Amino acid sequence: MPVNDLRGTFTTETQSHRAKTEKRFGGTAMAITEDRIGIDRLGEPGINANQYHFDTLALHAGTYPDPTTGAMLTPIYQTTTYRQEAVGCDKGFTYSRSGNPTVSALERRLSALEGAEFCSCYGTGLGATTALSLALLRAGDRVVVSDAVYGGTVRLFRQILANFRVEAEFVDTSNEEALTAALRVPIRFLFIETPANPTLKLTDIALAARLAKAADTLLVVDNTLLTPALQRPLELGADVVLHSTTKYIEGHNATVGGALVTRDADLHERFLFARNAIGAIQSPFPAWLTLQGIKTLPLRMERHSENALRIAKFLVAHDRVRKVIYPGLASFAQCELARRQQTSGGAMIAFEVKGGVEAGIRLMNSVRLCALAENLGAAETLITHPASMTHADVPPEQRAAAGITDGLVRLSVGLEDPIDLIRDLEQALRA
Ligand code: PLP
Repeated sequence: MPVNDLRGTFTTETQSHRAKTEKRFGGTAMAITEDRIGIDRLGEPGINANQYHFDTLALHAGTYPDPTTGAMLTPIYQTTTYRQEAVGCDKGFTYSRSGNPTVSALERRLSALEGAEFCSCYGTGLGATTALSLALLRAGDRVVVSDAVYGGTVRLFRQILANFRVEAEFVDTSNEEALTAALRVPIRFLFIETPANPTLKLTDIALAARLAKAADTLLVVDNTLLTPALQRPLELGADVVLHSTTKYIEGHNATVGGALVTRDADLHERFLFARNAIGAIQSPFPAWLTLQGIKTLPLRMERHSENALRIAKFLVAHDRVRKVIYPGLASFAQCELARRQQTSGGAMIAFEVKGGVEAGIRLMNSVRLCALAENLGAAETLITHPASMTHADVPPEQRAAAGITDGLVRLSVGLEDPIDLIRDLEQALRA
Protein backbone atom coordinates (compact mmCIF):
# COMPACT_ATOMS: atom_id res chain seq x y z
CA MET A 1 0.00 0.00 0.00
CA PRO A 2 1.50 3.36 -0.94
CA VAL A 3 2.16 5.52 2.07
CA ASN A 4 2.27 9.25 1.72
CA ASP A 5 3.00 11.19 4.80
CA LEU A 6 1.53 14.59 5.40
CA ARG A 7 4.84 16.37 4.96
CA GLY A 8 4.03 19.64 3.33
CA THR A 9 1.13 20.12 5.66
CA PHE A 10 2.56 18.70 8.83
CA THR A 11 5.85 19.93 10.17
CA THR A 12 9.14 18.14 10.44
CA GLU A 13 11.61 20.93 10.93
CA THR A 14 11.74 23.89 13.27
CA GLN A 15 11.58 26.77 10.81
CA SER A 16 8.69 25.35 8.88
CA HIS A 17 7.03 24.48 12.20
CA ARG A 18 7.12 28.14 13.18
CA ALA A 19 5.88 29.29 9.77
CA LYS A 20 3.09 26.76 9.80
CA THR A 21 1.91 27.41 13.30
CA GLU A 22 1.99 31.11 12.49
CA LYS A 23 -0.17 30.44 9.49
CA ARG A 24 -2.51 28.16 11.33
CA PHE A 25 -2.96 30.38 14.35
CA GLY A 26 -3.59 33.56 12.44
CA GLY A 27 -0.20 35.13 11.84
CA THR A 28 0.77 35.61 15.46
CA ALA A 29 2.08 32.09 16.02
CA MET A 30 1.23 30.98 19.53
CA ALA A 31 1.62 34.47 20.94
CA ILE A 32 -1.11 35.48 23.33
CA THR A 33 -2.72 38.88 23.13
CA GLU A 34 -1.85 41.17 25.97
CA ASP A 35 -5.41 41.76 27.03
CA ARG A 36 -5.76 38.03 27.67
CA ILE A 37 -2.50 37.42 29.53
CA GLY A 38 -1.25 40.46 31.40
CA ILE A 39 2.47 41.11 31.79
CA ASP A 40 2.21 40.63 35.53
CA ARG A 41 0.90 37.10 35.07
CA LEU A 42 4.04 36.12 33.22
CA GLY A 43 6.27 37.35 35.99
CA GLU A 44 8.81 40.05 36.59
CA PRO A 45 10.72 41.69 35.03
CA GLY A 46 7.90 41.30 32.54
CA ILE A 47 7.85 38.67 29.86
CA ASN A 48 5.21 40.22 27.64
CA ALA A 49 3.47 37.24 26.07
CA ASN A 50 2.31 39.44 23.24
CA GLN A 51 5.83 39.57 21.88
CA TYR A 52 6.77 35.93 22.22
CA HIS A 53 6.26 32.69 20.39
CA PHE A 54 5.30 29.26 21.70
CA ASP A 55 8.87 27.95 22.15
CA THR A 56 9.80 31.01 24.21
CA LEU A 57 6.66 30.84 26.31
CA ALA A 58 7.35 27.14 27.04
CA LEU A 59 10.61 28.26 28.65
CA HIS A 60 9.68 31.52 30.31
CA ALA A 61 5.94 32.03 30.76
CA GLY A 62 4.81 32.10 34.35
CA THR A 63 8.21 32.13 36.04
CA TYR A 64 10.83 34.74 36.82
CA PRO A 65 14.09 34.79 38.77
CA ASP A 66 13.67 34.82 42.52
CA PRO A 67 13.78 38.53 43.53
CA THR A 68 15.82 37.81 46.68
CA THR A 69 18.50 35.42 45.41
CA GLY A 70 18.30 35.63 41.62
CA ALA A 71 17.70 31.86 41.45
CA MET A 72 16.63 31.15 37.88
CA LEU A 73 14.20 28.38 38.73
CA THR A 74 11.02 28.96 40.70
CA PRO A 75 11.64 27.29 44.08
CA ILE A 76 9.72 24.26 45.30
CA TYR A 77 7.56 25.93 47.93
CA GLN A 78 7.39 22.90 50.20
CA THR A 79 5.14 24.45 52.82
CA THR A 80 1.74 23.67 54.25
CA THR A 81 0.87 27.14 55.45
CA TYR A 82 1.79 30.82 55.06
CA ARG A 83 2.31 33.26 57.93
CA GLN A 84 -0.15 36.13 57.78
CA GLU A 85 0.76 39.69 58.77
CA ALA A 86 -2.59 40.37 60.39
CA VAL A 87 -6.05 38.84 60.41
CA GLY A 88 -7.29 38.92 56.82
CA CYS A 89 -3.93 40.14 55.53
CA ASP A 90 -2.10 37.46 53.51
CA LYS A 91 0.14 37.47 50.45
CA GLY A 92 -2.30 35.53 48.26
CA PHE A 93 -1.61 32.12 49.78
CA THR A 94 -3.10 30.73 52.99
CA TYR A 95 -2.91 26.91 52.90
CA SER A 96 -1.40 24.62 50.26
CA ARG A 97 -4.63 22.73 49.60
CA SER A 98 -6.05 26.03 48.25
CA GLY A 99 -2.95 27.28 46.44
CA ASN A 100 0.83 26.99 46.31
CA PRO A 101 3.31 29.33 44.53
CA THR A 102 5.09 26.52 42.62
CA VAL A 103 1.76 25.16 41.40
CA SER A 104 0.68 28.72 40.46
CA ALA A 105 3.80 29.14 38.30
CA LEU A 106 2.92 25.96 36.39
CA GLU A 107 -0.68 27.19 36.02
CA ARG A 108 0.50 30.50 34.53
CA ARG A 109 2.72 28.68 32.05
CA LEU A 110 0.03 26.23 30.95
CA SER A 111 -2.49 29.09 30.51
CA ALA A 112 -0.03 30.91 28.26
CA LEU A 113 0.61 27.80 26.15
CA GLU A 114 -3.10 27.06 25.63
CA GLY A 115 -3.86 30.73 24.91
CA ALA A 116 -6.02 31.14 27.99
CA GLU A 117 -6.21 33.25 31.12
CA PHE A 118 -6.89 30.55 33.70
CA CYS A 119 -5.54 27.18 34.70
CA SER A 120 -5.86 24.97 37.77
CA CYS A 121 -3.58 21.97 38.38
CA TYR A 122 -4.49 18.68 40.03
CA GLY A 123 -2.83 15.64 41.57
CA THR A 124 -3.61 13.54 38.47
CA GLY A 125 -5.44 13.86 35.15
CA LEU A 126 -8.39 11.98 36.62
CA GLY A 127 -8.30 14.39 39.57
CA ALA A 128 -8.90 17.15 36.99
CA THR A 129 -11.81 15.21 35.42
CA THR A 130 -13.28 14.62 38.89
CA ALA A 131 -13.01 18.30 39.87
CA LEU A 132 -14.54 19.32 36.52
CA SER A 133 -17.47 16.95 37.09
CA LEU A 134 -18.07 17.87 40.73
CA ALA A 135 -17.86 21.57 39.88
CA LEU A 136 -20.41 21.40 37.06
CA LEU A 137 -22.73 18.44 37.64
CA ARG A 138 -25.76 17.91 39.87
CA ALA A 139 -27.83 14.75 40.47
CA GLY A 140 -30.06 14.14 37.46
CA ASP A 141 -27.69 15.82 34.99
CA ARG A 142 -26.70 14.26 31.70
CA VAL A 143 -23.39 14.50 29.83
CA VAL A 144 -22.26 13.29 26.42
CA VAL A 145 -18.81 11.70 26.20
CA SER A 146 -16.82 10.41 23.20
CA ASP A 147 -17.22 6.63 23.02
CA ALA A 148 -13.47 6.17 22.57
CA VAL A 149 -11.85 7.89 25.55
CA TYR A 150 -9.27 6.92 28.13
CA GLY A 151 -10.60 3.92 30.12
CA GLY A 152 -10.29 5.74 33.46
CA THR A 153 -12.64 8.46 32.20
CA VAL A 154 -15.22 5.80 31.32
CA ARG A 155 -14.78 4.19 34.75
CA LEU A 156 -15.28 7.53 36.52
CA PHE A 157 -18.56 8.23 34.72
CA ARG A 158 -19.90 4.67 34.76
CA GLN A 159 -18.82 3.46 38.16
CA ILE A 160 -18.59 6.58 40.34
CA LEU A 161 -20.63 9.48 38.97
CA ALA A 162 -23.50 7.16 37.98
CA ASN A 163 -23.95 6.50 41.72
CA PHE A 164 -24.80 10.19 42.08
CA ARG A 165 -27.43 10.02 39.31
CA VAL A 166 -25.22 11.55 36.65
CA GLU A 167 -26.02 9.94 33.32
CA ALA A 168 -23.21 9.69 30.75
CA GLU A 169 -24.10 8.84 27.17
CA PHE A 170 -21.12 7.51 25.20
CA VAL A 171 -21.43 8.62 21.61
CA ASP A 172 -19.34 8.39 18.46
CA THR A 173 -18.53 12.12 18.47
CA SER A 174 -16.63 11.77 15.19
CA ASN A 175 -20.02 11.20 13.55
CA GLU A 176 -21.87 14.51 13.05
CA GLU A 177 -25.31 12.90 12.89
CA ALA A 178 -24.79 10.88 16.08
CA LEU A 179 -23.45 13.94 17.88
CA THR A 180 -26.29 16.19 16.71
CA ALA A 181 -28.84 13.62 17.83
CA ALA A 182 -27.20 13.21 21.26
CA LEU A 183 -27.31 16.97 21.83
CA ARG A 184 -31.08 17.18 21.30
CA VAL A 185 -31.66 16.25 24.95
CA PRO A 186 -30.21 18.90 27.34
CA ILE A 187 -26.77 18.09 28.72
CA ARG A 188 -24.46 19.84 31.18
CA PHE A 189 -21.36 19.35 29.03
CA LEU A 190 -19.96 17.58 26.00
CA PHE A 191 -16.65 15.85 26.75
CA ILE A 192 -14.50 14.85 23.79
CA GLU A 193 -11.04 13.35 23.51
CA THR A 194 -9.27 13.88 20.18
CA PRO A 195 -7.30 11.95 19.10
CA ALA A 196 -8.98 9.34 21.26
CA ASN A 197 -6.94 6.96 23.36
CA PRO A 198 -6.26 4.31 22.01
CA THR A 199 -8.09 4.24 18.65
CA LEU A 200 -6.84 7.69 17.55
CA LYS A 201 -10.28 8.49 16.16
CA LEU A 202 -10.66 12.26 15.75
CA THR A 203 -13.54 14.54 16.62
CA ASP A 204 -13.90 17.81 14.71
CA ILE A 205 -13.39 20.34 17.51
CA ALA A 206 -14.72 23.39 15.63
CA LEU A 207 -17.86 21.47 14.65
CA ALA A 208 -18.34 20.11 18.19
CA ALA A 209 -17.95 23.68 19.53
CA ARG A 210 -20.60 24.99 17.12
CA LEU A 211 -23.02 22.19 18.00
CA ALA A 212 -22.38 22.64 21.74
CA LYS A 213 -23.03 26.38 21.48
CA ALA A 214 -26.26 25.79 19.55
CA ALA A 215 -27.32 23.31 22.27
CA ASP A 216 -26.40 25.87 24.95
CA THR A 217 -23.86 23.59 26.58
CA LEU A 218 -20.11 23.55 27.27
CA LEU A 219 -17.43 21.80 25.27
CA VAL A 220 -14.59 20.16 27.21
CA VAL A 221 -11.65 18.78 25.19
CA ASP A 222 -9.11 16.32 26.57
CA ASN A 223 -5.99 17.55 24.75
CA THR A 224 -3.61 15.12 26.45
CA LEU A 225 -2.50 13.25 23.32
CA LEU A 226 -1.39 16.29 21.32
CA THR A 227 -0.74 19.10 23.86
CA PRO A 228 -0.95 22.79 22.86
CA ALA A 229 2.25 22.27 20.82
CA LEU A 230 0.18 20.41 18.19
CA GLN A 231 -3.47 21.36 18.81
CA ARG A 232 -5.17 24.32 20.47
CA PRO A 233 -8.84 23.57 21.24
CA LEU A 234 -9.66 26.96 22.79
CA GLU A 235 -8.77 28.61 19.45
CA LEU A 236 -11.33 26.29 17.85
CA GLY A 237 -14.16 27.23 20.23
CA ALA A 238 -13.77 24.84 23.20
CA ASP A 239 -14.68 26.13 26.66
CA VAL A 240 -12.32 23.98 28.74
CA VAL A 241 -9.15 22.05 27.93
CA LEU A 242 -8.26 19.10 30.14
CA HIS A 243 -4.78 17.57 30.45
CA SER A 244 -3.20 14.61 32.04
CA THR A 245 0.14 16.41 32.49
CA THR A 246 1.47 12.97 33.40
CA LYS A 247 1.94 12.46 29.66
CA TYR A 248 3.75 14.73 27.15
CA ILE A 249 3.44 17.94 29.19
CA GLU A 250 5.83 16.64 31.87
CA GLY A 251 7.16 14.05 29.46
CA HIS A 252 9.72 12.13 31.51
CA ASN A 253 7.70 9.41 33.27
CA ALA A 254 8.44 11.20 36.54
CA THR A 255 5.10 12.53 37.81
CA VAL A 256 1.34 12.28 37.68
CA GLY A 257 -0.70 15.45 37.28
CA GLY A 258 -3.67 17.10 35.62
CA ALA A 259 -4.92 20.52 34.54
CA LEU A 260 -8.08 22.40 33.54
CA VAL A 261 -7.51 25.44 31.32
CA THR A 262 -10.17 27.99 30.38
CA ARG A 263 -10.78 31.59 29.33
CA ASP A 264 -13.90 31.78 31.51
CA ALA A 265 -13.33 33.36 34.95
CA ASP A 266 -16.56 31.94 36.37
CA LEU A 267 -15.74 28.37 35.32
CA HIS A 268 -12.23 28.76 36.75
CA GLU A 269 -13.64 29.93 40.10
CA ARG A 270 -15.89 26.89 40.20
CA PHE A 271 -12.95 24.57 39.48
CA LEU A 272 -10.89 26.19 42.24
CA PHE A 273 -13.77 25.85 44.69
CA ALA A 274 -14.21 22.15 43.85
CA ARG A 275 -10.45 21.53 43.98
CA ASN A 276 -10.20 23.01 47.45
CA ALA A 277 -13.34 21.26 48.67
CA ILE A 278 -12.24 17.79 47.57
CA GLY A 279 -8.50 18.28 48.17
CA ALA A 280 -7.30 17.52 44.64
CA ILE A 281 -4.52 20.10 44.12
CA GLN A 282 -1.15 19.03 42.73
CA SER A 283 1.81 18.90 45.14
CA PRO A 284 4.67 21.38 44.67
CA PHE A 285 7.40 18.89 43.71
CA PRO A 286 5.54 17.30 40.75
CA ALA A 287 4.52 20.83 39.71
CA TRP A 288 8.19 21.86 39.75
CA LEU A 289 9.24 18.80 37.73
CA THR A 290 6.47 19.57 35.24
CA LEU A 291 7.73 23.16 34.93
CA GLN A 292 11.14 21.75 33.93
CA GLY A 293 9.72 19.13 31.56
CA ILE A 294 7.49 21.61 29.76
CA LYS A 295 10.52 23.67 28.68
CA THR A 296 11.30 21.12 25.96
CA LEU A 297 7.68 20.37 25.04
CA PRO A 298 7.84 21.96 21.54
CA LEU A 299 11.12 20.18 20.71
CA ARG A 300 9.93 16.87 22.07
CA MET A 301 6.59 16.94 20.25
CA GLU A 302 8.33 17.64 16.98
CA ARG A 303 10.78 14.75 17.42
CA HIS A 304 8.07 12.42 18.78
CA SER A 305 6.03 13.14 15.64
CA GLU A 306 8.95 12.56 13.26
CA ASN A 307 9.79 9.26 14.92
CA ALA A 308 6.13 8.16 14.92
CA LEU A 309 5.79 8.88 11.21
CA ARG A 310 8.88 6.77 10.41
CA ILE A 311 7.67 3.89 12.53
CA ALA A 312 4.14 4.08 11.12
CA LYS A 313 5.58 3.77 7.59
CA PHE A 314 7.72 0.83 8.69
CA LEU A 315 4.67 -0.92 10.17
CA VAL A 316 2.50 -0.28 7.09
CA ALA A 317 5.11 -1.95 4.89
CA HIS A 318 5.55 -4.93 7.23
CA ASP A 319 4.14 -8.29 6.10
CA ARG A 320 3.17 -9.29 9.68
CA VAL A 321 1.10 -6.16 10.33
CA ARG A 322 -2.60 -6.18 9.44
CA LYS A 323 -3.62 -2.59 10.13
CA VAL A 324 -1.91 0.67 11.14
CA ILE A 325 -3.71 3.74 12.48
CA TYR A 326 -1.67 6.94 12.56
CA PRO A 327 -3.14 10.41 11.89
CA GLY A 328 0.03 11.48 10.03
CA LEU A 329 -0.50 8.95 7.22
CA ALA A 330 -2.42 9.83 4.07
CA SER A 331 -4.13 6.44 4.49
CA PHE A 332 -5.62 7.60 7.84
CA ALA A 333 -9.42 7.68 7.53
CA GLN A 334 -9.73 11.24 8.87
CA CYS A 335 -6.57 12.56 7.24
CA GLU A 336 -8.21 15.79 6.07
CA LEU A 337 -9.48 16.62 9.57
CA ALA A 338 -6.07 15.81 11.04
CA ARG A 339 -4.48 18.32 8.66
CA ARG A 340 -7.05 20.93 9.59
CA GLN A 341 -6.91 20.82 13.37
CA GLN A 342 -3.48 19.38 14.22
CA THR A 343 -0.01 20.55 13.25
CA SER A 344 1.36 16.99 13.05
CA GLY A 345 0.20 13.40 13.33
CA GLY A 346 1.32 13.20 16.98
CA ALA A 347 3.27 10.44 18.65
CA MET A 348 0.74 7.65 19.15
CA ILE A 349 0.28 4.71 16.79
CA ALA A 350 -2.36 1.98 17.06
CA PHE A 351 -1.84 -1.24 15.08
CA GLU A 352 -2.89 -4.85 14.79
CA VAL A 353 -0.60 -7.70 13.86
CA LYS A 354 -1.63 -10.67 11.74
CA GLY A 355 -2.44 -13.72 13.86
CA GLY A 356 -4.86 -12.02 16.24
CA VAL A 357 -4.57 -11.53 19.98
CA GLU A 358 -1.91 -14.22 20.46
CA ALA A 359 0.41 -12.68 17.89
CA GLY A 360 -0.12 -9.26 19.48
CA ILE A 361 0.69 -10.58 22.93
CA ARG A 362 3.79 -12.36 21.56
CA LEU A 363 4.95 -9.07 20.07
CA MET A 364 4.42 -7.18 23.33
CA ASN A 365 6.24 -9.88 25.30
CA SER A 366 9.17 -9.85 22.86
CA VAL A 367 10.12 -6.17 22.72
CA ARG A 368 13.40 -5.27 24.39
CA LEU A 369 13.89 -1.53 23.87
CA CYS A 370 10.20 -0.57 23.91
CA ALA A 371 8.82 -0.97 27.43
CA LEU A 372 5.61 -2.90 28.06
CA ALA A 373 3.94 -0.42 30.41
CA GLU A 374 0.87 1.67 31.18
CA ASN A 375 1.30 5.38 30.42
CA LEU A 376 2.03 7.22 27.22
CA GLY A 377 3.75 10.44 26.28
CA ALA A 378 7.11 9.73 27.89
CA ALA A 379 10.59 10.20 26.44
CA GLU A 380 10.90 6.40 26.46
CA THR A 381 8.87 4.34 23.97
CA LEU A 382 6.03 2.48 25.67
CA ILE A 383 3.94 -0.36 24.27
CA THR A 384 0.54 -1.21 25.74
CA HIS A 385 -2.27 -3.72 25.31
CA PRO A 386 -5.34 -1.48 25.86
CA ALA A 387 -7.91 -4.31 26.18
CA SER A 388 -6.13 -5.84 29.20
CA MET A 389 -4.36 -2.77 30.59
CA THR A 390 -5.56 0.84 30.19
CA HIS A 391 -9.11 0.00 29.02
CA ALA A 392 -9.74 -3.21 30.99
CA ASP A 393 -12.58 -1.55 32.97
CA VAL A 394 -14.43 -0.46 29.82
CA PRO A 395 -17.32 -2.89 29.21
CA PRO A 396 -16.45 -5.27 26.31
CA GLU A 397 -19.44 -4.08 24.24
CA GLN A 398 -18.31 -0.43 24.55
CA ARG A 399 -14.75 -1.46 23.65
CA ALA A 400 -16.04 -3.25 20.56
CA ALA A 401 -18.25 -0.30 19.52
CA ALA A 402 -15.32 2.10 19.94
CA GLY A 403 -12.99 -0.10 17.86
CA ILE A 404 -10.76 -1.20 20.77
CA THR A 405 -10.27 -4.75 19.54
CA ASP A 406 -8.53 -7.40 21.66
CA GLY A 407 -5.62 -7.46 19.20
CA LEU A 408 -5.01 -3.70 19.20
CA VAL A 409 -1.48 -2.64 20.17
CA ARG A 410 -0.82 0.95 21.32
CA LEU A 411 2.62 2.39 20.76
CA SER A 412 3.66 5.64 22.39
CA VAL A 413 6.69 6.52 20.29
CA GLY A 414 9.51 8.01 22.32
CA LEU A 415 12.63 9.97 21.58
CA GLU A 416 15.07 7.11 20.93
CA ASP A 417 16.79 6.87 17.55
CA PRO A 418 14.03 5.55 15.27
CA ILE A 419 16.45 3.04 13.72
CA ASP A 420 16.84 1.36 17.12
CA LEU A 421 13.08 1.32 17.63
CA ILE A 422 12.49 -0.17 14.18
CA ARG A 423 15.11 -2.86 14.86
CA ASP A 424 13.41 -3.74 18.13
CA LEU A 425 9.95 -3.94 16.54
CA GLU A 426 11.33 -6.00 13.65
CA GLN A 427 12.82 -8.64 15.97
CA ALA A 428 9.64 -8.68 18.08
CA LEU A 429 7.39 -9.07 15.01
CA ARG A 430 9.55 -12.02 13.85
CA ALA A 431 9.63 -13.63 17.32
N1 PLP B 1 -6.81 11.57 29.64
C1 PLP B 1 -6.11 10.75 28.84
C2 PLP B 1 -6.23 10.92 27.36
C3 PLP B 1 -5.28 9.76 29.37
O1 PLP B 1 -4.60 8.95 28.54
C4 PLP B 1 -5.19 9.63 30.78
C5 PLP B 1 -4.33 8.58 31.38
O2 PLP B 1 -3.83 7.70 30.72
C6 PLP B 1 -5.95 10.49 31.59
C7 PLP B 1 -6.73 11.46 31.00
C8 PLP B 1 -5.90 10.38 33.09
O3 PLP B 1 -4.71 10.91 33.54
P1 PLP B 1 -3.94 10.43 34.88
O4 PLP B 1 -3.41 9.05 34.60
O5 PLP B 1 -2.88 11.46 35.04
O6 PLP B 1 -4.93 10.43 35.97
